[in-house]
Amino acid sequence: SQKIAVAIIGYGNVGRGVQTALKQNPDMELMGIFSRSPERVKQDVQDVPVYSVDDLQALQKCSVAILCGGSKNDLPVQGPHFAAHISTVDSYDNHSCIPEYFNKMNPIARDNKTVSVISTGWDPGTFSLERVLGNAFLPGTKTYGFYGVSEKGGLSMGHSDALRTIEGVADARQYTHAIPEAIERVRRGENPDLKPEEMHWRECYVVLEDGADAEKIEKEITTMPAYFAPYKTEVHFISAEELKENHAGFPHGGMVIGSGSLGGTNRGTIEYHNTWDSNPAATANILVAHARAAHRLREEEKFGAYTIVDIPPAYFSPKSHDELLAEFL
Ligand code: NDP
Repeated sequence: SQKIAVAIIGYGNVGRGVQTALKQNPDMELMGIFSRSPERVKQDVQDVPVYSVDDLQALQKCSVAILCGGSKNDLPVQGPHFAAHISTVDSYDNHSCIPEYFNKMNPIARDNKTVSVISTGWDPGTFSLERVLGNAFLPGTKTYGFYGVSEKGGLSMGHSDALRTIEGVADARQYTHAIPEAIERVRRGENPDLKPEEMHWRECYVVLEDGADAEKIEKEITTMPAYFAPYKTEVHFISAEELKENHAGFPHGGMVIGSGSLGGTNRGTIEYHNTWDSNPAATANILVAHARAAHRLREEEKFGAYTIVDIPPAYFSPKSHDELLAEFL
């Protein structure tokens, strides 16, 4: 059967990840990369056509576009724009604005006979699905998300960016760590009310500019409102070489836990756990599976917007329904 023709729109960490992920999905074919800065992308990409985002004619040759722009400024504009032309998948991660974004995308996709899967990845994404399942299977259960459960912790792009805004900081990385005692309390079924700073602590690796005042910068970090002030925060000053050597990747991961009543005196706990060597590579693989689902939903003329919780899991898989039942049930 014919391959699903995929476009990548936006070429950063996630865009690069999608390019790599598509290579392990033989039912899909990368038709082109669309960027606001095609000349930049062409320097890195030789084996795939690179287009300007304005090239709608080239885009029409594709079945689904994976939108890999940033959540803050790109997706709120690019999502509604492209949904009018082609089925889309995106990882819009501004949790509190997801209902509004869905309501914007849904009529555009319906009117233009496309399918738009929004806000998928791992959080929002697979973690959202686990929260819904945990809450449905253990009624009334509160589900908790912990991040950076592995030893190195999880690299937070937002917090790393915040460190880099400080005067005298040349470069920086921030790892989020879960607090094990908090995880244990949830596992015990206490359903505790936990403040963010009771669930996570923060570890910063900072490269200083020449002549910068380390003590002053450490104070500025640990007192930064919202980002660091409420949390236990450790600051390590390292060299640029060390940062490059030990902190080049994007490791992340975490878990969703829910503990609640099975009725009567019986209790149950549900845990879902993932560990990623690379956050954008993992996100990319999830986006690619959703592109398959978007393509199928559109073939079935089920136009409109979807999230991960609206799509039957069989739609994500390259396997047939018979194969799924035989192999996985
Ligand atoms: P990047 O900043 O790497 O890329 C975002 C966009 O910026 C690209 O699409 C690209 O657009 C442009 N860009 C990238 N590099 C350059 C450059 N060197 N010069 C100029 N422009 C550049 O973001 P990420 O790929 O890391 O992340 C994208 C989004 O994915 C995040 O905002 C986040 O919200 C989301 N995400 C969601 C997750 C989830 O679980 N739901 C998990 C991880 C990320 P163009 O090619 O058009 O110039």
